[in-house]
Amino acid sequence: MNIVLLGAPGAGKGTQAKQISARFGIPQVSTGDIFRAEIAGKSPLGLQVQEYVKSGRLVPDALVVEVVSGRLAKDDCAKGFLLDGFPRTVGQAEEFDSYLASKKMSLDKVLYLKLSEAEAVNRLLGRAKIEGREDDNPEAIKKRMAVFTDLTEPLIAYYHAAGVLETINGDATVEAVAAAVSAALDAAR
Ligand code: AMP
Repeated sequence: MNIVLLGAPGAGKGTQAKQISARFGIPQVSTGDIFRAEIAGKSPLGLQVQEYVKSGRLVPDALVVEVVSGRLAKDDCAKGFLLDGFPRTVGQAEEFDSYLASKKMSLDKVLYLKLSEAEAVNRLLGRAKIEGREDDNPEAIKKRMAVFTDLTEPLIAYYHAAGVLETINGDATVEAVAAAVSAALDAAR
């Protein structure tokens, strides 16, 4: 199955992605994780993206699409993939659609984890204490929320129109969200 997980920062994408990945035997492809690893390794890509990631701005579309298409070309993605944090703009979604079409592939489901903003900010500030992510400080969180509203939210209408969107209440407990996600994916199989 080819799945996209969509949601505001703090919606629980990473947590749910790990569970889906284990249950359906498909790799979790997180652009945020890829970028953080490249930054930690001080690779040329890492150096290119570090200022964006640190401040909560989006890495330019062309660069992200290149990273994702390179990752999806690997053998472990042959039976499907779970994208966590990509696409983040309509531009990325359109380029990604062209990529999928060129490979004769399509998306089975786009899961939108819907979260209230107050709950998202609470969770992110809680996570900052545990994980120490550099972009979980009040200023970067504010920026990431604004980026989500302005650039990523339009994807909800985009994928709704494509007939693949499934909205899930992300304010619920991790277990309840996981159950809803599993039900949605079982129905799509
Ligand atoms: P995440 O872990 O998904 O919250 O991503 C952390 C940061 O990585 C984001 O705030 C962006 O700076 C960058 N990033 C991750 N995915 C994308 C994407 N699809 N497009 C642009 N920037 C991204």
